[in-house]
Amino acid sequence: MRKLFYLILILSSTVFLMSCTSTKNADIVTTAFPQYDFARAIVKDRMTVSLLVNPGQEIHKYEVTSKDRIAINQSKLFIFTSLEIDQWLKDPSSMAGESTIIMDLSTSFEEVHDDHLSLSTSNLEIDDHDHDHDIHYWVDPLIAIELIHAIYDNIILIDPENQAFYESNMEDYVEEIHELHESFETLIETSGWEERTLYFAGHNALGLFAERYHLNIVSIYTDFKPEQDTLSAEMISFMNLIKSSDTHYLMIEELIEPLVANKIVESLDKENYELQLLELHAYHNVSNTDFNNQETYASLFARNILHITLALTGGNND
Ligand SMILES: [Zn+2]
Repeated sequence: MRKLFYLILILSSTVFLMSCTSTKNADIVTTAFPQYDFARAIVKDRMTVSLLVNPGQEIHKYEVTSKDRIAINQSKLFIFTSLEIDQWLKDPSSMAGESTIIMDLSTSFEEVHDDHLSLSTSNLEIDDHDHDHDIHYWVDPLIAIELIHAIYDNIILIDPENQAFYESNMEDYVEEIHELHESFETLIETSGWEERTLYFAGHNALGLFAERYHLNIVSIYTDFKPEQDTLSAEMISFMNLIKSSDTHYLMIEELIEPLVANKIVESLDKENYELQLLELHAYHNVSNTDFNNQETYASLFARNILHITLALTGGNND
């Protein structure tokens, strides 16, 4: 009897694992981690949420499969990042089923940063300089809060019966992110970290995050897509910047093997200049480890705060 029970347990968990990896079918289908995390936080176990990219996979390199097309078609709510990031999604309406609500997350917030920068307008109308900046709009926690509200609005359209449950979950999650935001803002003010510089060996995804907290992030890449390598001239001038700033921390992005950062560390080590790598997460997607540990946008934001604190206190005496 006992053996039979264990056998059933093993079989059912195997089926569960298989269904997790082989299909993206769910009530809510998403194309990147932020909207996956936000939707999941609101619906908890009352609806299913899937993320088209697998943990550890880079969203800028994602290509849609026929199974994924079916998952989108059969979903009640499909949330994509933007036509620019999800370039495979040429015509979203053609992919939706009869009862699928399609949500372009990049048009779901109205946060305005500077006078010259109105993010509520279409991404396509923004000039090149602001463009790199805006494409990763979710990195600003106050925009994230707006996105959570917008996702909630669609969730209660597809399942109005559970509105009270969703609303309370939404409010809890917004509060969690807002508290982190306020504590980080206070930390920056009281520590005098405004306009301090972080050096980032990644693609330039954290512009709006830096702007929100008056930090200066100097990125080795100007393109929004990650590169495998870079010109040595760029690397040398970046290394010179690091040395002249006297920092001993170099920020790296999530999921990408830090080839260039490792080269910089090695090269500076020969000059007896010690440099440590610290991750600065831009939330595109999570690693397998972070996925298994059920990390969230909020917990990754908290980790970023920790790493920035280390970078700004650990290496400098000023
Ligand atoms: Zn990116």
